[in-house]
Amino acid sequence: MLPYGRQSIADDDVRAVAEVLRGDWLTTGPAVRAFEAELARWTGGVPCVSVTSGTAALHVAYVAAGVKAGDDVVTTPMTFVATAATAALLGARVVFADVEPDTANLDPEAARAAVTPRTRVIAAVDYAGHPADHDGLREVADGAGALLLDDAAHSIGSLHRGRPVGSLADLTTFSFFPTKTVTTAEGGAVAAADPGLLDRAARFRNHGLVREPALQRDPGHGGWHQEVHTFGLNYRLPDVLCALGLSQLRRLAQFRARRAALVARYNAMLAQVPGLALPPRRPYADPSWHLYPVRVLGGRRREVYDRMREAGIGVQVNYIPAYWHPVFEDLGYRRGMCPNAEAYYARQLSLPLYPDLTDTDQDRVVETLTKILR
Ligand SMILES: *Cc1c(COP(=O)(O)O)cnc(C)c1O
Repeated sequence: MLPYGRQSIADDDVRAVAEVLRGDWLTTGPAVRAFEAELARWTGGVPCVSVTSGTAALHVAYVAAGVKAGDDVVTTPMTFVATAATAALLGARVVFADVEPDTANLDPEAARAAVTPRTRVIAAVDYAGHPADHDGLREVADGAGALLLDDAAHSIGSLHRGRPVGSLADLTTFSFFPTKTVTTAEGGAVAAADPGLLDRAARFRNHGLVREPALQRDPGHGGWHQEVHTFGLNYRLPDVLCALGLSQLRRLAQFRARRAALVARYNAMLAQVPGLALPPRRPYADPSWHLYPVRVLGGRRREVYDRMREAGIGVQVNYIPAYWHPVFEDLGYRRGMCPNAEAYYARQLSLPLYPDLTDTDQDRVVETLTKILR
């Protein structure tokens, strides 16, 4: 089965991991800082803290933002459930605002209508790698006195008006799951320009430990002394995986280019196929495409999904609106709340897209899809 997404592992990646395995550090060592520094080259210099997953990154980012019971977090339903679940776990009320009907990105006007004095964070997702309308969202967040979070699990390396993802929001989270553009097997990161946000993120990742004597309440014990001032967890990404991430980041420019070439081929080959809507691109966006999301019109998405799978082509659906999950239904969230997201979900289908997808395999995807739709 041709997958919808997969990692690209080269000999350099294998060598980088093997080298760390033979060295002195398996976990927190020099590869962690090297990886974070290389990642910051992709965020326009905004510093980064690596963590164990994109989900951990979201948890850490909401903690750094001070999200707690009584707060609202406004977000998009067109995302993986973790964007909302991590805020709900902190006791926040998740408020879903609708998306733009074509990009499936959070609509700034819907976000504007959803904010209240309790809104602490507006969490956008750069769906499929296409940056959200960050100008509009920034205005809404500033007007509401909220922080802007960018769940950039799809969009590492993407640009918005020439500015890189990671520098657009107050907090940006990345995922390095194997289907994502850069992988560490499991992994994630948080980027924040504000030193207070970054410091809270870094501490929460490591049990909340304070090791700097100048910051300790009772520093006189000796060199071993460390203190916990606020609770945290162990979300440390090990050296072994950071070495893989560092090696992968060195290939990101190549990944971006190959994904862009595949997207251009899909756009050209599918332009005349009836019953399809192709992913749009806004003038402000220079995306690192993570997904190639088409919309299947005429109520045929289910049929197309099944027939593509029967043909050995592993298409995927991204995503069921987050509030359709029973956990949100049980909290009183009802279908119909975000009609654009629901209409998008009803038609959405992700075609295979990853750097090692060959032109020949892509041709087969297009031929199979065309045959079903003609
Ligand atoms: C993959 C993903 C996550 C979660 O990342 P993990 O590394 O799998 O925990 C969160 N948000 C979005 C939009 C994602 O695509």
